[in-house]
Amino acid sequence: MLVDLHMHSTASDGVLAPADLMARAAASGVGLVSLTDHDCVDGLAEAQVAAGQLGMDWVSGVELSAQWQGHTVHVLGYGFDQQAPVLLDALAAMRDGRWQRAEQIAARLAVKRMPGALEGAVAMQQASGGDADSPPGRPHFADWMVQAGYVRDRTEAFRKWLGAGKLGDIKQHWPELPAAVQQLRDAEGVAVLAHPWHYGLTRSKLRRLLRDFAEAGGRAIEVSNGKQAPEHVAVLARLSLEFGFLASCGSDFHHPDAPWMALGAMTPLPDSCAPLWADERFARAVVMHRQ
Ligand code: MN
Ligand code: MN
Ligand code: MN
Repeated sequence: MLVDLHMHSTASDGVLAPADLMARAAASGVGLVSLTDHDCVDGLAEAQVAAGQLGMDWVSGVELSAQWQGHTVHVLGYGFDQQAPVLLDALAAMRDGRWQRAEQIAARLAVKRMPGALEGAVAMQQASGGDADSPPGRPHFADWMVQAGYVRDRTEAFRKWLGAGKLGDIKQHWPELPAAVQQLRDAEGVAVLAHPWHYGLTRSKLRRLLRDFAEAGGRAIEVSNGKQAPEHVAVLARLSLEFGFLASCGSDFHHPDAPWMALGAMTPLPDSCAPLWADERFARAVVMHRQ
């Protein structure tokens, strides 16, 4: 069975609406699916209904931003209670933080004679299918800058204004890693460390992250993510065994124009791994729709 437990819809920074995303996953042969928008569960209801109609097994999902030793890391949560106040409160606080960041970016651009950036970015966000109260991100500011004629393309927008170390690169304060894991556990969910390879950590620092994640109550790591190289998948598979983690996988799909991130198309988990979905507690949270 093809499993894809990591993807984004218009509820965060993906370009497909949740139902369209589910249809695409089903067409790609995915049998167990989870929608994991950034710090947001607004797309889950629509995705769950669509997955049911399409005959895919489904589990609730989210990708939380967290802080660990000065790095931003991502924690995937699965099988949580979607109404749990602890989770909804945490997500609301993060959304407020994103709005504040968007306002700060706009204020800084206004000083550089680019007024109206917030309204412009919000319009871009909505034009790409986002809903009215979700805060715009840097890609939306970039698209607005292109449209307003301040830059030629997105790349230039990031290189001059929005990328790392530039004026629009405003750090947001995310919850510390143990707090993020605890929020998921308090909501009856399972915490999985997303794409451990992508944080650019040295091998010893990566091991420290895995140890801290295990101590915080993390259950699994994402051994295979998107276009990640097979040799990196193999390293993470070995680390999952060493630290006693279950293993997960997902495409991290955001939009259809990136063929290397097709739904369900990541490197399969090595046979040595203990797949997350074989775990009894995780399996109990899965809503079965397959015939
Ligand atoms: Mn994203
Ligand atoms: Mn991520
Ligand atoms: Mn992601």
